[in-house]
Amino acid sequence: MAPDAAARPTRAELRLAAREQSRAERRGAAKAATRTALLRVALPSVAALGVAAAAAVTVQGETDQRAQAAGRTAPHTAAEAPDNPADGGAEAAKAAAQQAVAAGGPTQASRGDARQPLAGAQPTDDPTAQPTAEPAKPKVVMPVAQHGLGELFGEAGTHWANRHTGIDFPVDGGSQVMAVTDGTIRTLWNPSYGYMSILKMPDGTEAWYCHLRAYKVRKGPVKQGDVIAFVGSSGNSTGPHLHFEIRPAGSGPVDPLPWFLSNGLDPR
Ligand SMILES: [Zn+2]
Repeated sequence: MAPDAAARPTRAELRLAAREQSRAERRGAAKAATRTALLRVALPSVAALGVAAAAAVTVQGETDQRAQAAGRTAPHTAAEAPDNPADGGAEAAKAAAQQAVAAGGPTQASRGDARQPLAGAQPTDDPTAQPTAEPAKPKVVMPVAQHGLGELFGEAGTHWANRHTGIDFPVDGGSQVMAVTDGTIRTLWNPSYGYMSILKMPDGTEAWYCHLRAYKVRKGPVKQGDVIAFVGSSGNSTGPHLHFEIRPAGSGPVDPLPWFLSNGLDPR
């Protein structure tokens, strides 16, 4: 046998004796025993119990001081827990933690209080917790896929009897033409405008699509973004483009550009 092995039983016996003595001390001090139980239960779940963790730090400091005052060199730790399964419990630990927090200094108590409103506020701050609302529908969409304007409203032109009554989208013949809002379509032929589609919006405003090559919807209700016709150069036109007008209810043509901009869309 090695000298070390021979010494082990003696050390173990000494440790056992020391434990028995410390248990007797704790039995004599019920308050200290409760706090020790708190340590055993709260320390493994420090992450889960923020308040208990703060309390445990405070209590452990006090316990260490008591242990040193009692002449013991080793503080009580969780390693002793298996020997004392009957000591304390989760409920006792919680109660002790609350008492410890209540008895603790202002710093400890305020730290514990500050965490609770924070944790409670998280669910309401979560953007995914908002009521289920559909994404905001745009007020208007482009009448053609491509941004960019040609002739603007009010410009003088060689082939207009008066000033230009709309805006031109310089896109290729055959390009799709879309309903800028929900509404109702009607179609007609005009010597100047050629084949034209008129979209009547819910508020009575009319959008005029002119110089078309062909219709997709001749008549009836359409939804915003629906393809209603195809770009052409019919009527008084020098080449394929979409001539687009806005005519508020009971009004002549107005400049479509500010109408688009006021509805949140820049067609340029
Ligand atoms: Zn035009």
